[in-house]
Amino acid sequence: MARIRLMPDHLANKIAAGEVVERPASVVKELVENSIDAGASWVKVDLVEAGLQRIRIIDDGAGMDEEDCERAFHRHATSKITDENDLFHVRTLGFRGEALASISAVSRLTIQTSTGEKAGTKMELEGGHLLSRGKSDARKGTDITVEELFFNTPARLKYMKTIHTELGHVTDVLNRMSLAHPDVQILCTHNEKQIFKTNGRGDLLQAIANIYGMNVAKKMIPIHTETADFKVDGYIAKPEVYRASRHYISTIINGRFIRSIPLNKAILQGYHTLLPIGKSPIVVLNIDMDPILVDVNVHPSKMEVRFSKEKELYDLVEETVRQTFRKQTLIPDVKEPK
Ligand code: ADP
Ligand code: MG
Repeated sequence: MARIRLMPDHLANKIAAGEVVERPASVVKELVENSIDAGASWVKVDLVEAGLQRIRIIDDGAGMDEEDCERAFHRHATSKITDENDLFHVRTLGFRGEALASISAVSRLTIQTSTGEKAGTKMELEGGHLLSRGKSDARKGTDITVEELFFNTPARLKYMKTIHTELGHVTDVLNRMSLAHPDVQILCTHNEKQIFKTNGRGDLLQAIANIYGMNVAKKMIPIHTETADFKVDGYIAKPEVYRASRHYISTIINGRFIRSIPLNKAILQGYHTLLPIGKSPIVVLNIDMDPILVDVNVHPSKMEVRFSKEKELYDLVEETVRQTFRKQTLIPDVKEPK
């Protein structure tokens, strides 16, 4: 008798969910990313108890027809890549086809979605099992409600922190999204009170003011450079505005917020000795490049990337930051001794 069995989908999804869905903020991140990939001009996020009880995400994106809506909840189901070659040309935020399968495996989920042409589709799932399927109205867009996250994974549920902490993680996600996509309006309520709102007009400095305040925005210097491989845009704060943590350095590659220690280091080196020792600046850098130059398939959270021309990129970033200050005559234009 064979002892090895293939896991049923819902069990495999539940296990995989551990990597993609760590806390309410991860659900918000994945669903807002989906809305942005669907071309939404606005996304509304409604939370109850920091999302531990309920997360509802509504968008005005492309929506799905009935067949796609059902497929979307299968593992590795995606409309964003079709073959191996596409993996090297990812321009969308998603591509792994895991989020909906994972989130629905560890929650009670309701989706209403329509492409706007005819009646939409409504589906209810519980722990990854389909409970019901029917029609919904024809408003173009998607409306997903995730309730009782981790109801069937008590070990994970036990690790949830206070409402305050979980809400902080969600706000972090929304802050990053609004910096990476100032052209998409993001609205968020918590227990029916509005806690976050961007105007969606596409102005990065406005997005910075929204998060860090007007006083910080007034101290930001625009930065820009272009080479054959990279285009760098954004804002760097005057050195007098500093913080104690690297958390205030935002690096965005092709619209995706990422974490990169060497990129942070390049930015800090660009500031040279202008910052007090151990302090960090407020920086938002948008770096665009051919997707072939960046591997986003390093970790399920897609926050880590690998660059194929890394030295060129780090040198460019360091030099651009330095030159930006030089133009502001904050750094005297003298060559450093080798
Ligand atoms: P991925 O984003 O990696 O493709 P997901 O599991 O997040 O995987 O989503 C699966 C598919 O469902 C997506 O490829 C997309 O076609 C569809 N989808 C998900 N969310 C939305 C949405 N808000 N609007 C339209 N389509 C969506
Ligand atoms: Mg996705």
